[in-house]
Order: sequence, then structure tokens, then C-alpha cells
Amino acid sequence: MASGKKDIRALTKEQLRDFFVEQGDKAFRGNQVYEWLWQKAAHTFDDMTNISKETRQMLEDNFVINHIKVDNMQRSKDGTIKNAVRLHDGLIVESVLIPTATRTTACVSSQVGCSLDCKFCATARLKRMRNLNPDEIYDQVVAIDNESRLYHNRPLSNIVFMGMGEPLMNYNNVLKAIDKITSDEGLGMSPKRITVSTSGVPKMIKKMADDAVKFNLAVSLHSAIDEVRTSIMPFNETFPLEDLREALEYWYAKTKRKISYEYVVWKGINDTQKDIDAFVKFCKYVPCKVNIIEYNPIDDGEFQQATNDALEQYISTLEKNRIVVNVRRSRGKDIDAACGQLANKS
Ligand code: SAH
Repeated sequence: MASGKKDIRALTKEQLRDFFVEQGDKAFRGNQVYEWLWQKAAHTFDDMTNISKETRQMLEDNFVINHIKVDNMQRSKDGTIKNAVRLHDGLIVESVLIPTATRTTACVSSQVGCSLDCKFCATARLKRMRNLNPDEIYDQVVAIDNESRLYHNRPLSNIVFMGMGEPLMNYNNVLKAIDKITSDEGLGMSPKRITVSTSGVPKMIKKMADDAVKFNLAVSLHSAIDEVRTSIMPFNETFPLEDLREALEYWYAKTKRKISYEYVVWKGINDTQKDIDAFVKFCKYVPCKVNIIEYNPIDDGEFQQATNDALEQYISTLEKNRIVVNVRRSRGKDIDAACGQLANKS
């Protein structure tokens, strides 16, 4: 990539069409090339068989096609696959394929490292190095879709932005990637099958509502008490629960779509009745459902999964209050592919 040539996938379809017109060609040529770049995921200009040789050479002289490379693929006993993905500049991110009986979910990264500092998350130990480009996000999905077809005989059905990074701190690129994933010129997936998970950046949640996005929103809550949440997710100091609540109310008023709360219960941190009551209260502000996530240990034991009794207490109290709750068992733990374990160890 030392050539200084521009990445052709950074161009919109309109820009590609304009480029061809400037070259004295037809705008339509831009559509053809765009289709090769996205729908057909071409890696070289030579793959573009309905484009003349001279035009392919002209493209070669002007552009590069940056694409990701799956450097290392690990398969778990439970069918989970983790990809270590090499970007054009040599940096690595990870993405995960999670198969269940009825669906195959891609868990994709949005940043190299993460800008936040959640104490329980392995990715937080890597400082944020850069945002991913839309094509780098899109390519992770294409790679997982291919693996799903190959190893599980079915296409990808769902996507969650729960890999490395905070998607709302790379909002524009995440949005562009989702536009491509959902467009007929890309993968044609329904936005209803896509979930963006955030630690809760209020301003950006409101922006998403204003942009009338059609995908789902998940919030990693983990505590509904400010002091507790700040102690494990320090940015809560800047974005306290009251601001988050206001943004979520705004989201629901505009979109009428339920929010999912992701929640891990840890011993001695958020496992008392006071924690449960605060959470149930928070759940009543906006229609929601709850995913209780099993804790995946990342270190020396500073954080420990709460007892089953504490979990049962959470579940029964939520259910008594008619809040839908699912318990998410970890997948792919043997290959460090579970939530919060993505830290480029492979
Ligand atoms: N930054 C985004 C997405 C990445 S984290 C977010 O915060 O939502 C994806 C999910 O994994 C979040 O719900 C996060 O809180 C959770 N998580 C992080 N570390 C974990 C761990 N060690 N065990 C279980 N879940 C974890």
C-alpha cells in the first residue's frame, strides 16, 4: 500500500460514476465497477470480466482495492469460529461467527482497540488505534457469510456490532457499512437482523433516532446505579444514567422500537437486591428486553460471575415485572471468542 493510490472502495457510487464521465466513458461503467466491488466482492480489477482490458488497466493505474485478509481462523468445539482479520495497514481486528440451531450470527468489530475503558473487557486493554473504514466492516461480514455457507451450509442470518470497539464512536462508518450490508447492491440483508451494541453514548443514540435507522439498538448497561456503573465503566462519569435514560426515551419516542439491555452480574459488584431494584426501575422507562450475559473471565479474577442464586433473583424479579429476559450462555470460550475476550491473542 505504499503506492499512494486511492482506495477505490472509499468512493460512493455517484463518485465512481462521475469518475468515469471525467474519463470520457459512460456513467454506467461506474455502476458495473461498483457492483464488482461490493456485491461480487472482487479483490482485483482483473476479476471484473465485463470491463475492457484497457479500462481495467486505467483503474489499476489510479486505484487500489483494499481488502481484509483472514489471517487466522480458529474453530471452537461448539462451532463458533473466530477470525483474526488483517487490515491493509497490518493492524488486526477480530470477528466471530456464532451458530445456533436457528441462526448464524456474525459478531463484528468497529474499531481497532477501543476508546472506552470498561474494566471487565479485554478489548479495553488495547488502546484505540483507529476506526475501521466502511469496507473493512463490510468485508468482515462477507468473510463470515462465506464461512457460514462453507461450514454450516447456510447463509449468515444476523449481525451484531459487539466485537472490538464502540460502534457509536465510529458512527458514520458503521452507518455506511450497514447501508451497504442492507442494500440490494450489497448483501441485501434486512436491517431488522442487525443490532448495534453501545456502552451508551447519549448524543449518538439521539442522532441514530433522528437518522431514523432501521436496525436494533442494544445498550451494555451492567448497572443502573451511577456509582456502581462508573466504577466498572468509567465513561459513565461523562455520560451518566440520567442522560442515557433521556436519550433512550428519545429513541423510543422516535422509532417505537424496543431496546435490549446487555447485563452481566458479578459477585460483590451488582448482585444485591438494591442493584436488582434499580435495574428493574430502569427497565420501566422505555420498552425493553434484557439479555443476561455470562461473564467471560479475562484476567486474574478481579471480576467473578455472580452465584446462580443471584442470577435467579435477577431473572425472577425481572419476570415478575413482566420484563422479557434471556440468559445468553457463552460461546467459543475455548478459543477466546466470547464477549469481552477479543484482544488479538491468537
Ligand atoms: N462497545 C460496545 C460493543 C462491544 S462489547 C458495547 O459496549 O456494547 C460487547 C458486549 O460484551 C457488551 O455488552 C459488553 O459489555 C460485553 N462484555 C465485555 N466484556 C465482557 C466479558 N468479559 N464477559 C462478558 N461480557 C462482556
